[in-house]
Formats: sequence, structure tokens, C-alpha cells
Amino acid sequence: MNRPKNKRSSSRKPIALLLLLLFTVHHLQAWGFLGHKTINKQAVFALPQPLFEFYKSHIDFLTEHAIDPDQRRYTDTAEACRHYIDLERYEKAMPIDTIPKFWKQAVEKYSADTLFAYGIVPYHVQTMLYRLTEAFKSKNLDRILHLSADIGHYVADAHVPLHTSINYDGQLTNQHGIHALWETRIPEISLPNYNLLVPFAHYLPQPTDSIWSYLQTSHSHLPTVLANEKSLTQSWGSNNKYELSTLSNGKTIKQVKAEFAIAYENSLNHMVEHRMKDAITAVSSFWYTAWMLAGQPDLKDLKGPQ
Ligand SMILES: [Zn+2]
Repeated sequence: MNRPKNKRSSSRKPIALLLLLLFTVHHLQAWGFLGHKTINKQAVFALPQPLFEFYKSHIDFLTEHAIDPDQRRYTDTAEACRHYIDLERYEKAMPIDTIPKFWKQAVEKYSADTLFAYGIVPYHVQTMLYRLTEAFKSKNLDRILHLSADIGHYVADAHVPLHTSINYDGQLTNQHGIHALWETRIPEISLPNYNLLVPFAHYLPQPTDSIWSYLQTSHSHLPTVLANEKSLTQSWGSNNKYELSTLSNGKTIKQVKAEFAIAYENSLNHMVEHRMKDAITAVSSFWYTAWMLAGQPDLKDLKGPQ
């Protein structure tokens, strides 16, 4: 099973496409709903004044709508590729210095079809920053809030190592399920113990460099993410790794044991927590940068519904 790179060939087969989308949605909710909501919410508290005051008054909206981009995957086939980039398609080794940082040059080098097939998150974040800046300039409250929630989601996705890889769910190394384990199961268990106090937002003089640097850091963690899960699975044995759980709707599911998830997280030396904290400051910094680029508009007389 593959991600939307198959989308064109599958488009003649609606049922296959639907199954593909359901699979994709199920497996690629980066950070899970809880993680995305937490990142957008905490990003508000990393803002300086007067942005803090403004965003704080809309914190519930920004929190709830942090998951809009994942929800859109159900209805919009163009959505999925905005959440990741398969860097191995372009780079044989670190550092990431082969793929052009800007869309126009990247299209010239690889073609738009290739870029869409292997994910466009760094380019989409640039588009979103431009749109958010324009929304601030025109003082359009509705646009500012929706775009802030959206860019928060995509910047957070760029902080997930498995969102930078063609082996996004360990499917090439017989580690199926590692995606949800890293970004959903671990935060579900450990989030209450995380210290999410983060450095304040800062203006990003080269926001394009910033998003690529987040991806580079995420990708540099990938070997550890995969190797530690593999060796733990070997030492625990597959039978000890999973448990059956009954959901509130009565359904029984097989999931990774909490003990295994915690052991895995410990082996990663706080990686999940650190990536989440970095994501919070990054989201906050992208909001702040858009407002600065727009000329620091007064936020007291914005147009649109509250
Ligand atoms: Zn996503």
C-alpha cells in the first residue's frame, strides 16, 4: 500500500481510491488529534504581545481546528501530499542539499508530478505563510484564524521523523504500525508528563530555511526511530508487544501495549517530547513572522465573524 503517489493511477478506480484514502487517513494523522491540538494551543502561549492577547482570545478555535487538514483528506484528494515529504526520493545521504528549497526551482528540476507524488510539505508551508501574511495585511479575521490553524498543523507535521520518509510506516522494514506508535500512542500515554514550556516565538528572517531545517532535523532522527523499535520488538517478541483492548463502542482492537510504548519512548531519550516542544515554538514563530511581514497590523479592528 502506498500514499497518494498512486492517486493518479487509482483515480479510474473509485473504490480502490476510497480504500487508499481511508488507509492513508488512518495511518497519517501526524501527532494524532491530541498532539496537533496541544501544539496549536501551546503555541499561543509562546507568542509575545500583542499577538498573545489576540491569539489567546481565539485559542479554542485554533485548538479545535488544528486537525482540519487531516479531516480534509476525507474529501480532498489534493490534501494528503501536503503533510509529508519522502526525502529519500531526492537525497541519498544527509545533509539535505540536493532538492531545491523553492517550488519553482524544484518543479524545474523534478516536475510538479514528482513533487506531488512524494509530498510537498515544505512548499505548502511557504504558500501558507504567504496566505497568512496576506490575511494579516487585509485584516481578515476569518482567514487569519483558519490559516493560522492550518499552518500550525503543517509545521507540526514537518517535525515528525516518519513524515520525511518513504518508509513512513515501517512498511519497507517490516515495522508496520510504527507511525501511529511514535506520533499517536506515545503522546496519548505520555503527554500529561511532558513539560511543554518552550522558548518564545521569534521572527524567522529566512522562513524557507527554517522549514527545511525542521525537516532535516526530523530526518536525522529516522535511523534511531526505526532501529530502536526493531531491536525492542526483537527483545520483547511480537506476542508480548501487543494487547487486545475494548473500545467504548464495544469493539476490540489489537494495539501496542502501553509498557512497550513507554520502553520505546525511553529508548528514544525524550525525542517525542522534544520534537513536540520544537514544533510549538516553530508554529508560534511562523504566526509571528506572518504578522511581522504584514507590517505588524493593529489587531483590534479586524473584519469578520468572531
Ligand atoms: Zn497532517
